[in-house]
Amino acid sequence: MSKTILITGASRGIGRATALLAGARCWSVGVNYAGNRQAAESVVAEVEAAGGSAVAIQGDVAEEAEVIAMFDATEAAFGPLDGVVINAGIAAQSMPLAEMEASRIKRLFDVNVYGAFLCAREAARRLSTSRGGRGGAIVIVSSVSSRLGSPFEFIDYAASKGAMDTLAIGLARELGREGVRVNAVRPGLTATEIHATAGQPDRAARLGETTPMGRAAEPSEIAEPILWLLSDAASYTSGAVLDVSGGR
Ligand code: NAP
Repeated sequence: MSKTILITGASRGIGRATALLAGARCWSVGVNYAGNRQAAESVVAEVEAAGGSAVAIQGDVAEEAEVIAMFDATEAAFGPLDGVVINAGIAAQSMPLAEMEASRIKRLFDVNVYGAFLCAREAARRLSTSRGGRGGAIVIVSSVSSRLGSPFEFIDYAASKGAMDTLAIGLARELGREGVRVNAVRPGLTATEIHATAGQPDRAARLGETTPMGRAAEPSEIAEPILWLLSDAASYTSGAVLDVSGGR
C-alpha cells in the first residue's frame, strides 16, 4: 500500500537512502534538509525516477516553527501522513568531555534531542487516531553509541542517542492505542558524510575494519530495516530498539 512519509535529514546519507527505497515502493516522501538544497532536489529527482513522489522541504529541526512547517508542507503536497522518520542528526569533533565547549554540547543536544522531540511531538499530534490522524509508524534513528558511550570521541553525541532509545520506548507506550507504532533503529558505523563533517572522513572505513563484519554499513543497509518498520509488515512491532550494527 502506498504511504506518505516525512524523513528529516533526507538530503544525504541514511535519510537519502531511506527516501530512495520509499520511492521504489511508489511512496510519497517529504525530503527535509537543513541547508543543502541541491542535494535535496537531487533526492527528489531520484525518488521520482524510482516511481514515487517527493518534495524538498528546508527546515531546521531545532526550530519549532520550522518543524511544524515541514509537516504542513508534506501534508499539503501529499495528504495525511502515514509515517515519520526522525533521522536528522549531527556529530562533532572527537575529544574527551573535559575538552568540550559548552556551545558545541548545546548545539548537539538542540539538534539531536530537542529537534527529535519536536518532530516526535508533531508526529504524535498528526498520526494519533484520537486527534484525527489515521495511525501510522514513527522510526527514530538512534545509534549503537547509545550503549557504547563513545569515550574520548563524543560522549555528548552518544548520550543524545540514549535519549532516542528512551523516546522510542516511552512514545511507543503512549501511542499504542492511537494506531501508531514507534521504533528505533541503532545503526553502527555507516559510510556517510557525517564523519567528514565531524573532521574524520575516513572514520567509517577505518573503524569498520575493527568490527565483527570487518566493514562499515552502506546507507541502504540501514534504510532497509527503517522501511520495514514503517511498513505494514511490521504491524506488531512497536517499542523495539533494533541494532543494525554488523554485530558491533
Ligand atoms: P549525514 O550524511 O551527515 O546527513 C545528515 C542529514 O541531516 C542531512 O540531510 C542534513 O541536511 C540533515 N540535517 C543536519 N542538521 C539538520 C537540522 N538541524 N535540521 C534538519 N536537517 C538537518 O548523516 P547520516 O550519517 O546519514 O546520519 C543520519 C542519522 O543517522 C543521524 O541521526 C546520525 O546520528 C545517525 N547515525 C549515523 C551513523 C553513521 O555512522 N553514519 C551511525 C549511527 C547513527 P543538509 O544536507 O542540508 O546538511
